[in-house]
Amino acid sequence: MQNITILGSTGSIGVSTLDVIARHPDRYTVYALTAHTKVEQLALQCAQFRPRLAVVGSAQAAQELKRLLGEQGLRTEVEYGVGALCAAASAADTVMAAIVGAAGLAPTLAAARAGRKVLLANKEALVMSGQLFMDAVEASNAVLMPIDSEHNAIFQCLPLGFRRQPQEHGVARILLTASGGPFLKRAVETLDVVTPAEAVAHPNWVMGRKISVDSATMMNKGLEVIEAHWLFGASADQIEVVIHPQSVIHSMVSYVDGSVLAQLGNPDMRTPIAHALAYPARIESGVGAVDLPKIGQLQFEKPDFNRFPCLNLAYEALRAGGSAPAILNAANEVAVQAFLDGQIGFRMIDRLIAEVINKLPHGTMSDIDAVLEQDCAARAAARALIAA
Ligand code: NAD
Ligand code: MG
Repeated sequence: MQNITILGSTGSIGVSTLDVIARHPDRYTVYALTAHTKVEQLALQCAQFRPRLAVVGSAQAAQELKRLLGEQGLRTEVEYGVGALCAAASAADTVMAAIVGAAGLAPTLAAARAGRKVLLANKEALVMSGQLFMDAVEASNAVLMPIDSEHNAIFQCLPLGFRRQPQEHGVARILLTASGGPFLKRAVETLDVVTPAEAVAHPNWVMGRKISVDSATMMNKGLEVIEAHWLFGASADQIEVVIHPQSVIHSMVSYVDGSVLAQLGNPDMRTPIAHALAYPARIESGVGAVDLPKIGQLQFEKPDFNRFPCLNLAYEALRAGGSAPAILNAANEVAVQAFLDGQIGFRMIDRLIAEVINKLPHGTMSDIDAVLEQDCAARAAARALIAA
């Protein structure tokens, strides 16, 4: 029996994780569930999964949750704040890191430092802290399993015992597939006027709003290039993005002998979640097999870096190293929120990020405080540009 903390249980990944867990009550129990503001949804999850602990974002939300749980006679302990998130992440056997954005860094890192099995959906945490995060995993013997569908696919296509040294295992390249999002074929001149509703309407995946906008700009793929670098030890040159609009192949590994291994599946996050939860066993996830004759055709094309400047910004940040990826990530989070709030247009997202990266000096990242400082400085610079 494994006990599990789900950081961000009310989000898209959190809900999919609970769906898989509910199918296997003989294997998994829930230790803690966490949510930022969605108290009512969290109360319903507590009633169904009976965690020992629930963590929310504020004292007010905690009070409201206690009231809702009390009405049902539930004895789940309620806490709030970052310290409580970190404690919840340190105490369980397995931690699903599914908070969106930089807010997930502290608890995800806490789980890694405590030597837990960390199921990583929160790519932003790894993009920000890179080497420091991987060092924490190694020092504590934590087990890091990728949840991002591409990285989970790559993991499945790599040989057993892969040790982040692509050359040693005959790996030539990692082929990261991308759907291209909702604006793959839209006339570039009209991208200035797209609305948040159009941007979050992903053709293949149902996801949270932030990652949906990231998919429309392809910053999501850019963050995933950086994520792949840290997870698999591949250089920027060894990671190639391939547009594959059907989202059936979730990524591929190309070997020096000419073999290319791919992982296929329906676009449903319960597959990578079930894989990572049970690894090396295989468990039922609620997702059926792909129906290839029904899909008919799989297509591939090279990404257009003019249409998707964010992809280029991410490659540049990876090559620059140091604090550049953390600055990229922070500027992106602020720009995406401003776009969703109607403060800036879609094409301002990449322009704003480029400007913040050019403006700020790039430092080295000696510790997590340095990461958080860079994150704060980039957010402040992005907000100042929006206000100007
Ligand atoms: P979401 O917006 O649906 O859910 C986010 C969760 O984080 C919610 O439970 C929310 O309560 C919590 N949260 C938000 N802000 C918080 C804060 N400041 N403090 C504490 N908790 C906070 O997001 P999602 O789509 O589930 O994505 C979660 C993460 O997984 C992201 O990093 C995303 O990039 C990654 N991911 C998602 C998918 C997907 O299919 N949704 C696929 C791959 C990777
Ligand atoms: Mg992905």
